[in-house]
Amino acid sequence: MKWRGRERSSNIEDRRGTAGGTGGGFGRGGGMRIPMGGRSGGLGGIGAIIVIGLILFAVGINPLDMLAGNTSSVPRQTNASVPSANAGDDELAQFVGVVVKETETLWGEVFQQNNMRYAPPKVVLFTEMTESGCGVADASSGPFYCPDDRKVYIDLRFYDRLRQQFGAPGDFAQAYVIAHEIGHHVQNLTGVLPDFNARRARMSQEERNAYSVRVELQADCYAGVWANYVNRENLLEQGDAEEAINAANQIGDDTLTRGTVQPRNFTHGTSAQRREWLNRGMQSGDVGQCDTFGNGAI
Ligand SMILES: [Zn+2]
Repeated sequence: MKWRGRERSSNIEDRRGTAGGTGGGFGRGGGMRIPMGGRSGGLGGIGAIIVIGLILFAVGINPLDMLAGNTSSVPRQTNASVPSANAGDDELAQFVGVVVKETETLWGEVFQQNNMRYAPPKVVLFTEMTESGCGVADASSGPFYCPDDRKVYIDLRFYDRLRQQFGAPGDFAQAYVIAHEIGHHVQNLTGVLPDFNARRARMSQEERNAYSVRVELQADCYAGVWANYVNRENLLEQGDAEEAINAANQIGDDTLTRGTVQPRNFTHGTSAQRREWLNRGMQSGDVGQCDTFGNGAI
């Protein structure tokens, strides 16, 4: 992606290099502390479970643990020499800033066309661990969107894992991950996530999973709509689209779990589904093509 020199979002909350404190000020984040109290059991954002990251279960993290603020597996003591962002990280942070800015432009336009106003989310960059409105996040959480505080969280080191562990290299694979999480924010604004939240208590686990798949595939489609926009802006480079499609493929539930999980337990969709819906958004550039909830859509 041709991103250098382009404007960056002002909605990046940079908490990198401030790991180790669970309640302390966030140095570069402006000393703001995310309010954690008041949510009984930490599960106020129960809907967040379905939008947590891309890969939680694949790395053996129980999303419930994180949402409940169960940090027993998270080292509280991190030594003082947590590396501050190195040059590579800074470049990555700049890249994320440009990607987020481009999502703000697109979604601002789309919302306006629908007589709505787009309020962009904050995107929190962190290292090691940080607090979110959905519980404590650590490096293994993977990128996620928290509907309760309307923020996207990402430890940039996830991108190393995306490349090495998940076999999805390339800057546009990285952009896709951001655009997918931003897609969840769009769903929060359009009522898709609140709707899910309202219904989920009455659903069986299987129904919840199936609904979650529809939510996730729609976020993939929205990421594709964004990729289409970036292409129209002439920012795509050769191989970018393939990088995103490959990433979607690599984080499909069946591929991630290598056949060890029953399809009825899938929460994000198969590799084929994720490729298909991302591609649908990419080809059409039309959010109207992203109705994963229609009869026979999936
Ligand atoms: Zn998601």
